Amino acid sequence: MLSLNLTHLLDDAKCYETMRQMRWSSEVCCPKCNSLSVIKRGKDETQPHRQRYQCKTCSAHFDDLTDTIFANHHQPLRMWILCLYLMGLNLSNQQISQELDLDKDVVQDMTTLLRQGIVQRKPEVKLSGTVECDEVYVTAGHKGNPEAVLKKGEKGDGIASKGFGAEARLRRKSHPFSA
Ligand SMILES: [Zn+2]
Repeated sequence: MLSLNLTHLLDDAKCYETMRQMRWSSEVCCPKCNSLSVIKRGKDETQPHRQRYQCKTCSAHFDDLTDTIFANHHQPLRMWILCLYLMGLNLSNQQISQELDLDKDVVQDMTTLLRQGIVQRKPEVKLSGTVECDEVYVTAGHKGNPEAVLKKGEKGDGIASKGFGAEARLRRKSHPFSA
């Protein structure tokens, strides 16, 4: 009997296309100086759909995956895209590991990274540390532990405003799924 495997149904070209849309939406932006003056510089030698670029402002070379969580990871991009898709369907890490035929610990690492955003945050972003912690706590609190949320709320304005930030982040990140 034929067993269907999701990972074999996905086209690498489409995955890179999706990746570019998630990352840049319209114009490619230099990860070093944020310039939009960027030219294409051929494709990656081992991954034929991975576009390379050069910035005309600062001359930096980069590609579709530079500075993203996918850059130095051995899983192919389609595994990440599928993982993101299955997360959007609210599957558990256990279910995702079965669908993708990956170890549960590997999936745990991947979903954790994906929740932090696909572009790696640079240290100069002042609020990132706080915001990321809150996101985890607020989500867990709302879903599984309403008492803890109430208790946190009693501590004052700080928690309430941080909670709002976390929800805003979640909304923004859910955008690629709905596209
Ligand atoms: Zn640049």
